[in-house]
Amino acid sequence: MHLQHEARNNGHEYPDLGRLLNSPQLLHPERLASTEWKAILQPYLIAALQRHGQYTQSAIEQHLNFFTTHVIPWIGLGPSPDPTTGALVPPYPSSLTNDHTPFELSCCWKGNRQDGLAVVRYVIDVIPSGGEISRLAAFREALHVMGTLEELSQEQNTLSLYAFPSLWWHITKAMIENEQQTHSRPCTRCSPSGVFVAFDLVASAAFAKAYWLFPACQNTSTLIMSMEKTLKLIEEAEPAMFPRLLDNWAKVATHITANQEILQPRMLSIDATKYPVPRVKVYARRIFLKSNTFSDIEPHLSLGGSIPLPGPFRQTCERLWSSLVGPEDSLPGNGPKYTLVLYDIPTGAPGETPGKDASAKLYIMCQEIPHVDSFVARKLYDNCPVLQDAELVKELAASSEPTAFICEDNRDRGHPLL
Ligand SMILES: [Zn+2]
Repeated sequence: MHLQHEARNNGHEYPDLGRLLNSPQLLHPERLASTEWKAILQPYLIAALQRHGQYTQSAIEQHLNFFTTHVIPWIGLGPSPDPTTGALVPPYPSSLTNDHTPFELSCCWKGNRQDGLAVVRYVIDVIPSGGEISRLAAFREALHVMGTLEELSQEQNTLSLYAFPSLWWHITKAMIENEQQTHSRPCTRCSPSGVFVAFDLVASAAFAKAYWLFPACQNTSTLIMSMEKTLKLIEEAEPAMFPRLLDNWAKVATHITANQEILQPRMLSIDATKYPVPRVKVYARRIFLKSNTFSDIEPHLSLGGSIPLPGPFRQTCERLWSSLVGPEDSLPGNGPKYTLVLYDIPTGAPGETPGKDASAKLYIMCQEIPHVDSFVARKLYDNCPVLQDAELVKELAASSEPTAFICEDNRDRGHPLL
């Protein structure tokens, strides 16, 4: 469970995330120096760590130091004012967020043991340092990021960094080859974003995740082949870590292939959240053609009924979806046009539960939910037992302000390409 985060610090309110780049505060001429990403984003991270998680002062300083020293250089130049409107516009049209900010902050609640306190996380889009707007340049830049992660994970730092940088480097190399074959000429369908890198901040440790975006312009059968080729490469690069990866993927691939009109693989992720066991996830868009009810989603969570859905999980998904997407949002042209289904592909790595089966999760794209934050937060609170002590959700649910921290409701800008 995650949502974008409200940022306030010591009573000072920061700009609404949904209107972050075009707030009057940042448009004020004498504030234009603050258009560097560091000055814009750092206050949000500080506020999240101080207010919503359980971090010591020393851990907060370590995370901030890592963010400003290493991560900020990966997201390129800050936004600059549009000469006509004066609105701040990022130089790179990242598909990570609706307003193209290459950074998203989120809070995560996984169990009642957290007493309502969140794990703070963030994800960034790797932006080419040379400013070239292309997927190929983004993948090449990501090779440098993986190299830096490799160096940092070998150093003795106070911040513990968990990552799989050499494996990620191999995958990025394969994505470069795939990109060269796919896009021999400019493509109007694909965003120039190629790789997202994320960190879950747990105490004074950062657990890294990497995401590779597959082309949006290809059909599902081609995407399945590209995905399979990449997974094969992973298994060949580290056979001891991935002995069952391809076997487990086969079941998911069969389901996606049988539903290729409505399922489109979009992204591959390998994360270090269970380090040293790698987690491999494939994200597929579930495109709604005629209706968008939970019964249109459920068969894809259970792989057509072949993997049983735990009762409480199914119930939470159904109730949440049905309350977020009411009958008026199910009419053609209204409400969500797609959602994401995440497939967790067990690897068979030593340390993983033996015989673990593939599983799925529902990833609700909040920008597809046409409501303000308080509505979304109320539905989350009412339907997710894990959020009963989460102050952030309670505050948002009680708010009468029509904010868009969660929904990022810039519908006139079109939708991100994820
Ligand atoms: Zn394309």
